[in-house]
Formats: sequence, structure tokens, C-alpha cells
Amino acid sequence: MDSIIKPDLSGFENTIRDYVRYVLGKPMTDATSTDLFNGVSSAVRKLLMDIRIETEQRYDRRDVKRMHYISMEFLTGPLLANNLLNMGIQEDVRAILKNMGLDLDILMACEPDPSLGNGGLGRLAACFLDSLASLDMPGFGYGINYDYGLFKQSIMGGYQREKPDYWPSRSSPWLIARSGEKCMVPVYGRIVDTEDIEGGYNPMWSEWKLVVGRPHDIPVVGYGGHTANRLRLFSAWASEDFDIQIFNEGDYFRAVERKISSENISKILYPSDSQEAGRELRLVQEYFLVACAVQDIIRIYLKQHDDFNQFSKKVAIQLNDTHPALTVAELMRSLVDVHGLEWDNAWDITTQTLAYTNHTLLPEALEKWPLAIVEKVIPRHLQIIYEINRRFLETLTVNYPDDPQRLHRMSIIEEGDEKQVRMAHLAIVGSHSVNGVAKIHSHLVKTGLVPDFYDLWPEKFNNKTNGVTPRRWLLSANPGLARLITESIGDKWIVDLDTLKALESLGRDPAFLEKFSMIKRENKVRLARLIKKTAYIDVDPDSIFDIHAKRIHEYKRQFLNVMHIIHGYFMIQEEGVIPTAPRTYIFSGKAAPGYFLAKLLIRLIHGVADVVNKDPLVSQWIKVAFIPDYKVSLAEIIIPGADVSEQISTAGMEASGTGNMKFAINGAVTMGTMDGANIEIAEAVGPDNIYIFGHDVEEIQAMRGAYDPGKILAQSPHIQRVLNAVNSPLFCGWENDLFFPLFDAVVNHGDYYMNLADFQSYVDAQVRLSGDYVDKKKWAQMTLLNTARTGIFSSDRTIREYAGEVWGLERQI
Ligand SMILES: *Cc1c(COP(=O)(O)O)cnc(C)c1O
Repeated sequence: MDSIIKPDLSGFENTIRDYVRYVLGKPMTDATSTDLFNGVSSAVRKLLMDIRIETEQRYDRRDVKRMHYISMEFLTGPLLANNLLNMGIQEDVRAILKNMGLDLDILMACEPDPSLGNGGLGRLAACFLDSLASLDMPGFGYGINYDYGLFKQSIMGGYQREKPDYWPSRSSPWLIARSGEKCMVPVYGRIVDTEDIEGGYNPMWSEWKLVVGRPHDIPVVGYGGHTANRLRLFSAWASEDFDIQIFNEGDYFRAVERKISSENISKILYPSDSQEAGRELRLVQEYFLVACAVQDIIRIYLKQHDDFNQFSKKVAIQLNDTHPALTVAELMRSLVDVHGLEWDNAWDITTQTLAYTNHTLLPEALEKWPLAIVEKVIPRHLQIIYEINRRFLETLTVNYPDDPQRLHRMSIIEEGDEKQVRMAHLAIVGSHSVNGVAKIHSHLVKTGLVPDFYDLWPEKFNNKTNGVTPRRWLLSANPGLARLITESIGDKWIVDLDTLKALESLGRDPAFLEKFSMIKRENKVRLARLIKKTAYIDVDPDSIFDIHAKRIHEYKRQFLNVMHIIHGYFMIQEEGVIPTAPRTYIFSGKAAPGYFLAKLLIRLIHGVADVVNKDPLVSQWIKVAFIPDYKVSLAEIIIPGADVSEQISTAGMEASGTGNMKFAINGAVTMGTMDGANIEIAEAVGPDNIYIFGHDVEEIQAMRGAYDPGKILAQSPHIQRVLNAVNSPLFCGWENDLFFPLFDAVVNHGDYYMNLADFQSYVDAQVRLSGDYVDKKKWAQMTLLNTARTGIFSSDRTIREYAGEVWGLERQI
């Protein structure tokens, strides 16, 4: 490992003092904690800039290949702690501040959580940027600088309330405005058919309105402090001189209104996870991001080249899901219309540059845009998409001469009452690589989602199992465990997580196991304090902390977990069957504001918590707590405090999951279905160190169509008792029939997510788990092996695979 380069901290204190005095205009004695957080961050930012500038000069000097990761979401979480750790100066800064009479932890607690993402997809992008910089690779992020990130969740009377989350998109100490590198984005307007001087077809995109994309950069420093890349986020502005003719006052106000409407483009993040929005503004956002990114990427390339011959050798672009799939059309437009390349040449460059990651098989999440909306927003791109499709279908007729059905299935344009653009098809046709995010998921992409494309281009398809950064999710979030590991096996694990394997043999050392378990106990105490503070519930750190933390979604099956809790309640209450160990069921997660059943599920969790926690007998054995406002900073406290990680999606529906990896690395034991990366976690830790239950993908697929939840219900008095309780007044408070829709979905509407099919096997696995938990030594060994054997889920491994197999990206040390 290359040693850590520590920046010079001699001016650090003065930078903080100067910030307070000359930027805020206050004497130090008047500075609030937030002022001081901003001051410290500015001092850190100064150090980051030195690394950033050196890094960029190194890249330029070597004319390196760069990778650009385009994503509508980046869920970074707070940055101060991470930046200090990655630069290796957390303790030095702590000491400097202590000298000034300040407490680093108090200042860090003032940092708002930038919530520029919904969940896993945005968090993956953030982990990737950390790994790229830590591996000293030229990999950059492109996203949108939303004014409002994901809403803040609070709970009132058991219901989710949403409050806007204003992100200081113009004043965060981490953002550096780069007004000199703004991008001009034409949008709306119409196509005028004209001819060029040789009489060829020459379409003119006219009457567009111009939106300005202003870049704001967040420096991303890698572990070791050698390399700082950047995440570039664009804010939308109206073009400066809103350039319409103003004849009277009315026109003036209309002009101002138009200006305001342009600026709405980067106003807010769409809050739906795994659900497409289908709104015009969302399409405009996607296009805005793609247009800014492509312009910026080409500008950077042309600084060192004067034609496009080297483009795909110097530039790789990764599309994070289909949200930026318009990159295919925009890069073509730019190369052909703006830079005058021939179509065929431009197409080769485009497909050799682009690669696409698929993140979901859920039909409701697959993006399709009605032609009418696409034509209105980006008429020239629609033409280009038609031309791409025409040529694509032409090659298909050669490959499959007598198969018109196949052409219909594969077309980028879906025929029907309302014609639509299939964004996944556009992304696949325009890319040289298509990957899923876990082995099973990549397999299902090939065999279930787009088998026709796999048949045509088998070599395009590959797998890149997700990962998470060990810097944030172990070093920073679990300092106690990080310290113990480093004391025991050295610190190489921070950049090479596979070395955690060396912990395995320590499992035979009772003193080591004791220390390992004590750290978990301390993390549970820390989590219990958070629960007390946010959910007002007292929980016992000696009970099993059984945690289900992720977005609330039917396919993630928080309902199945609740069914199990209700079942346990009745077992104690009615049958006097006491569980082997007391358990605290902890939930956390946001529901999309428009997702009725998910929001009702949050209400049900609170209804069940009310009854269970107040029952004098049951509450000795079962407690239920919901921690509001799940986000990165809370996940950093919740995950290290878990004994059990609930990963119980219906098999075939969770593409990979990354929460499952964070929990396992922190020594939680997974209770999971054979879905997503759970399968690979099971492979890594071994069958004795995980609880796998339920139907697997093949069994679920075989059941579809013939599945009858009524039959299971009729045969199971236990399930009847649980579901009748859901549908009874028991958990409703004074609101009658409150939970009928949840009951109804399972009992009368086919139980699409197959909760009932997996219920008994889930209950059985939970009983086994309780039995194992009370065997302290066995349990400690299981949790240790989870940490020791999950090194492959470092995003460093994922990035090395992408770099070698998809991007052709090299280390630049
Ligand atoms: C890791 C993470 C997720 C993703 O969790 P899954 O269990 O993989 O769905 C979502 N939100 C936050 C805040 C996270 O840190």
C-alpha cells in the first residue's frame, strides 16, 4: 500500500478563524456550531483543492482515459468525517480543534445530510466515487444539484409526514461553483425541414429555449490522500438575458415567469424508488443532466484533442440505470449535428463509449416515455432515436429474416395506442456493455428481461456485483470494530477488504471473540440511544436487534416481517409460548409520498408497536421501534448495531441490494431469501452463518399463475390469526378498517409478493435463529465470520472489475 500523504495542517486554525471573521463577519466568540462546522469544512476544502488540482494536472499530463458516471442520484451522506478519514487527518484536526476549545464531534453533528438520492441506486454511485478515488482512477460523477433532496420523514400519529429537505445547493462548503464552465442546453421548440447546399436533408431545430447548466463541484478525495476526483452537479438557470422582445409590462412578467420555470428543472428530486414518474418535468431533468454532461465531457476531451478519432479510447461513460439513456441520442446529436461527423462514424464512437447498468426487473420501474412528450421536449432527439431504430431494425431483418414478432419485441419504439420510447432498449442498442448488479440479477436480465437482445449480442452482457465502500461503512461508521481489526491484523483491510479473511482464525481465541462481542454491545447501546431520542422507546441492548432498514416497498416485504411479529405476539399472549430470546424489531425507511400501501404499512408498524410495547407480558419479549427519516447518517448508526439483517424480498425482485452487504460486513447475520446479492453473501459466509428461507427464483417463477394464497390461508390457523388481526380493530386505534387494504392485497388480490408462500419457512428460520443467539459463543463466531468473509463486497472489487472489463481504466498513481 502506498503510504498516506498527510496534508500540511500548519495554516488550518487560521483558515477557520479567517473564515469566521472575514467571510461571516463575526468575532470567534459569536460563532455558532454551524458557523464553526462551515469554517472547519472550508479549511478542509482548501486541502482538498490542492489535491484536486495536482490530480487534474497528473491526468492532463498523461492524457489519461477518463470514466464519467452519469446518475440522476448521488446519495453521499455527510462529507466532513469521510474527508478527514480519507486524508488521514481526523485525529490531528480533532487535536487542533480541542486546542481551540472546540469538539469535532459536535461540529460534525451540524452537517446536513445531502439527500440527493432515494436509496440504493444513489448510494451505489457515491460508493463508486469513493472507490475510484481510493484506487487512484480517473472516474468522475455527473448529477443534478437539486435544491430539494429527498423529503424529510417525520411520524405523526403513526403516519408518515413529508417535509421538504432544502439542500444548500448554492452555499454548501463542499460545493465549488464553476460558472466559467457552464453548459447551454436547448429544449422544446420544433424541427424545420431544410436542405443543405448539396441538397441533402438538413433538419433545423428551431425556436428552442435555452437553459443554462451551472456546474458545482464536490471534490471526492480517495483514501490515502493521493487522488481527488470530482462529482459535478448541475443547477439549471435561465439564460442570463431572458432574450425575448419585451413590448410591455405583461411581456416582462411572462419573461420572468419563463425564467423561473427554467430554474424549476433542478428544483427537486423525484421521490419514487423503483417506480417511474412519467412526468414531463422528469424527462426534462433527465435530458438536462445528459446534455450538460455530454457537453462537458466533449469540452474536456477537446482540450487535448482536435478530432474525435481517440474519443472512445479516452472516454468511457457509464449510465446508472436508464435515467440517463438519452445520452445515446445526445452524444449522436452532438457528434453529427454540432461536430459534423458522419452518422456511421458517430455511431461507432457512441457505442464504444457507452455502457449501461440495469438496476431493476420490476415492470413498474422500467422507463418508457410517450412519443408525444419526447417530441415536445426534444424533437431533434426523437428524430435521432427514430433513425437509430430504423437502422437497428434493418440489421435485425438480416439476422432474423422471418421473425416480425421479434422485431416488434425488440424495437426501441413500442407500438400501441400510445407509442412509447423504451429507454432500456435505447440504452442496450447504444452501448457496448450491459450489466446487472448481482449474479442472479444479471442472469435474469439475459433470460427474462431482454432475452432477444441476449440472443443477438451475447458478448455485450456481463455481471458486476455491487459493493460498498469500507471507508464509510466500516472505518467511519464502526470505529470500535475498525480499531480492533487494525490492532489484530493491521490496516491493509481499509484498501484491500479481502484481508479480513485473517480474522477467521481469531474466532478460536475466546478473548478476541469477547472483544468482538463487546464492540457490538457498545454499538447497540449507541443505537438504543438513537431509538430513545427519535422514537421515544426504551429498548434493551441485550435483546436481539433485528433490523429491517431500507425503502418501504411491497417487494421488500416489510409486511412479512410484521406478520411474523404479530404471530410472535399471539404465541405469547394466547399460547404461552415464550421465545428463546427477547427481540427488538427495528424498522426504518421512507415510503414514496404517492405509494398508498407502503405508507399504510408504516402506519401498521406503529399500530403493532403500540400494542406490543404496551403489553406488560409481551413487551418483556418483543419490542417494536420505527426510526424516522432513514438516511446515510442514520444508517451509519443503525447498521453497526444490528444482530440480524432482514433481507427478505420476494426472490427475483431485489436486483442486488447493498444494505445487505453493509450489515454483513459489520457482523450482522442475514435473515434472507435467495435473492439479489444475498445469494452471493450466503456463498461467501457459508450456509451455517446465514439464515436462508423461502422459495427461490425458480420456485417463484414456477408458482406464478397457479399461486393461490387462499389455499395456504385455509390450511394455516396461524396465518389466519395474523391476517384477521391485521383486519381487526386491534392495531387501528380509533380508525376502523384502517388496514383492510393490506389484508385485501394479500387475501383477495393474489398476494403478488407471495408473503403467505414464505411465511412458515420464515417463522421456522426465526425460531432457529433465536435458538442460536442464546449460544453466545456460537453466535459470536457466526457474526465474526460474517465480517471476515464478506471482503468481496467492497466496492473496490466492483470498481476493479468495471475498470478492467468495461471501461479500460487504469490506476494513475
Ligand atoms: C445502503 C442504503 C440503501 C440501500 O438499502 P437496500 O437494503 O439495499 O435497499 C438505502 N438507503 C440508504 C440511506 C442506504 O445507506
